Parts: sequence; C-alpha cells; structure tokens
Amino acid sequence: MALKISNDCMNCGVCEIECPYNAIYPAGLNWRKIKRKYLSVCEDRSVTDDFYSGVHYYIVPDMCTECKGISETPKCVMVCPLSGIEKDTKLWESEEHLYSKKQYLDTLHPWRYWS
Ligand code: SF4
Ligand code: SF4
Repeated sequence: MALKISNDCMNCGVCEIECPYNAIYPAGLNWRKIKRKYLSVCEDRSVTDDFYSGVHYYIVPDMCTECKGISETPKCVMVCPLSGIEKDTKLWESEEHLYSKKQYLDTLHPWRYWS
C-alpha cells in the first residue's frame, strides 16, 4: 500500500528530496496542474484525492511503490525526523501490484539510475 504523511509533519521537506519517484509534494501544491499523469498505472485503484493536503506534505499514492526493490525501509520513512509517515491501510496493494507500478515508474524516471 502507499504511504501517507500524518498531521505530525513539520514540513521540513527532507522526504521530498529522498523519494526516488517524486511522489511527495509540499502542502497546497496541486500535482495535477503540473501535468503528472500516473493515474492509469493503478487499474484497480480505489484512490481518491483524499491524499491531498493543504497543510503538510503529502504523498501521491499512484507514484509511491513503498520503495520496493530500492530499499527495505521506505526512504521517506528513514529520513523523516518525526516518524510522520505511515502506511495508508485504506490503500492496500499487493506486492505484485507495487512491483508493476515500480516497473512503470522506472520507464518515466530513467535518470534515477544515473545517480
Ligand atoms: S515509500 Fe518510497 S516511493 Fe513511496 S513516498 Fe516514500 S520514498 Fe517515495
Ligand atoms: S520528512 Fe517528515 S516532517 Fe519532514 S516533510 Fe516529510 S513527513 Fe514532514
């Protein structure tokens, strides 16, 4: 399942820098307006815009893979100073689905392998 940022977030922005798939956005930034088009990757998605926050950083579920195949612990969780990132139990996804999402996102973020 995707991760979500809790109300404990103090808007430090460290997680945004660490996320390999640009899934994390600052409060109030509407990712749709900058032409992110990842919605088609989740065919069985029950995701709504509930993830958006105008108060603290937020994670776009369709772009979050739980860092599968990259890190055992999600990178955003590792760097958050407040333990403000948790699994979103409303958005359960199978391992297979997370890996297929990763495969799709890797085609959109090839530069990730250059660093
Ligand atoms: S778990 Fe990984 S992919 Fe998901 S938001 Fe955190 S850093 Fe990004
Ligand atoms: S690292 Fe933690 S406190 Fe900082 S912006 Fe991300 S969720 Fe908020």
